Amino acid sequence: MRTWKAILTAALLASMSAAAQQAAETQPSAQPPAPDATQTAQPSQQAAPATAQAAAIEQPAPAPAPTTMDQVVNLFIQREHGLIKMLSNRTPVVETYLQNLTADPQLGPVPSADHYFLGRMDMGETVDRKDYLKEEDRSMQSRLLGGFGKLYKVQYQPLGFSWMVYADRTDFDREHYDFHYARREFLGDVRCLVFDVTPKPKSGRGRFLGRIWVEDQGFNIVRLNGTYSPAPRNAMFFHMDSWRLNLIPGYWVPSFIYSEEGDFSAGVKNRLAFKAQTRIWGYDLKKGGKDDELTQIRVDSVTDESAASQDASPLQAERVWQQQAEDNVVERLTSAGLLAPEGDLDRILQTVVNNLEVTNNIDLPRPVRTRVLLTSPLETFSVGNTIVISRGLVDVLPDEASLAAVLSHELAHIVLGHNLGSKYAFNDRMLFSDEGTYQNLGFKHIPEEETAADKKAVELLKNSPYAQKLDNVGLFLKALQLRAPQLSALLTTHLGNPLAENGTVNRLTALSTQGPALDNTKLDQIAALPLGGRVKINPWDDKAEMVKAAPVAITSARDKMPFEVTPFFPRLIRYGTGAAAPAAAPTTAAANSGSGN
Ligand SMILES: [Zn+2]
Repeated sequence: MRTWKAILTAALLASMSAAAQQAAETQPSAQPPAPDATQTAQPSQQAAPATAQAAAIEQPAPAPAPTTMDQVVNLFIQREHGLIKMLSNRTPVVETYLQNLTADPQLGPVPSADHYFLGRMDMGETVDRKDYLKEEDRSMQSRLLGGFGKLYKVQYQPLGFSWMVYADRTDFDREHYDFHYARREFLGDVRCLVFDVTPKPKSGRGRFLGRIWVEDQGFNIVRLNGTYSPAPRNAMFFHMDSWRLNLIPGYWVPSFIYSEEGDFSAGVKNRLAFKAQTRIWGYDLKKGGKDDELTQIRVDSVTDESAASQDASPLQAERVWQQQAEDNVVERLTSAGLLAPEGDLDRILQTVVNNLEVTNNIDLPRPVRTRVLLTSPLETFSVGNTIVISRGLVDVLPDEASLAAVLSHELAHIVLGHNLGSKYAFNDRMLFSDEGTYQNLGFKHIPEEETAADKKAVELLKNSPYAQKLDNVGLFLKALQLRAPQLSALLTTHLGNPLAENGTVNRLTALSTQGPALDNTKLDQIAALPLGGRVKINPWDDKAEMVKAAPVAITSARDKMPFEVTPFFPRLIRYGTGAAAPAAAPTTAAANSGSGN
């Protein structure tokens, strides 16, 4: 953190002096429209009261169609400043998952260790990160930083990854950069103009150097690919590929960043090799201020479903109490930006749970619900009758039978009455800051309940439509075991019991010998998938859905990449044109915020 702050200060100082030098020679007057004039004209055109506008999203004023590339440059510079301003009151969730790489003769670069960072980023003036992870995890982080500081003078800065959402937060302009038009190119459905961006000489440290893609209607930057340069003496900037999505009208919102370093060609001495995915979501979350926390007390979370003339029996009271706890937890995790709202993906999970229930004649007093945790680490847990599974785990599961297997463990807990978390029916226990979620909530069972749930889960599976496909589950568990020692961060759970501990898989071990031996040379044997292959999160409203990707033929063992981080290549579409309707229109957002206040 300290190094990073030093870099920023240095860059700011340099840019201020550069601006002073160039103040006299303003931009050529031949370039209409003057960006500043348009920008200042905007608020008066909108004429909305300042208070309401704080929550509503200001739509960019339609720009006159540019006739020269110079005008295009002016427009995207102006739109970038508009984006920085629009996001300045947002505090999205930022997750970075990083895998260190080592060379494997057969598989190429494979993970040798991994690291995980999760926090809320304040996109206002001072970029700040509030960490969800506990103190012990932070000390892991500082050990990591310290270790690299000594060895290579290179640091993984979680803040550094999230910083890559913009090319240049403070000085993205013609005084600090040269822009050269390269060509036109389609990214997904969106036609883009491609520009090479180079910092002007003596424009300071840490300037963006690379390429940007600008969509050709609103002239917003949709992708940045490059690095920052020059690096300070005792730090280094990583290469990044940063993608934005058109989730609200008029704006393309930073969503995914892929970073990679390392060279595995012969003769190269690796100082550093890793790949990392940074995901940003929860833009539409409320800021977790103290006032907000108080509004989260729930009094009437339970609808009374008992017959009107009857009093609740002790057992009924117990069940209602548990449902209250369950509702509280689900709502709190959603408002903290950790749980996707109920959606399409839940219906798929629900179908699998129903298949298990029906074939096992399970008849519960309340239906089992499913929800998706938005984070990457592989985990499941249940609270009351709600089964929660992480996005990362859904991503890496090779087939429906494996999904059924991980869900069956939680269903078994529910069937066996291993109910945890009834203490959360007390609403004071929901009053904590979003960053305190992992310290305040937890759903870990004792080892005896874990063993019993695994035993019951295997019974459920053997009676289910998945009974003939348990070989695939066995293969998945073998693949997980093979990588478990290197992927401790991916296997560190934050709310539920881990699938593996100290490098050994301990979930559903009765099935781990099932099926054929793991064989990388068999190209048709897919035991586990890379991360990010199945679930798509809308970074604005956190909705989760299945990725619609056509299967790609695997041509070598290196294509399998089980549990691995890969580059992002989202199919870009314009707002309102895709099959999946993105976030609510700003008019609705304005109306909601108006009635809510
Ligand atoms: Zn369990």
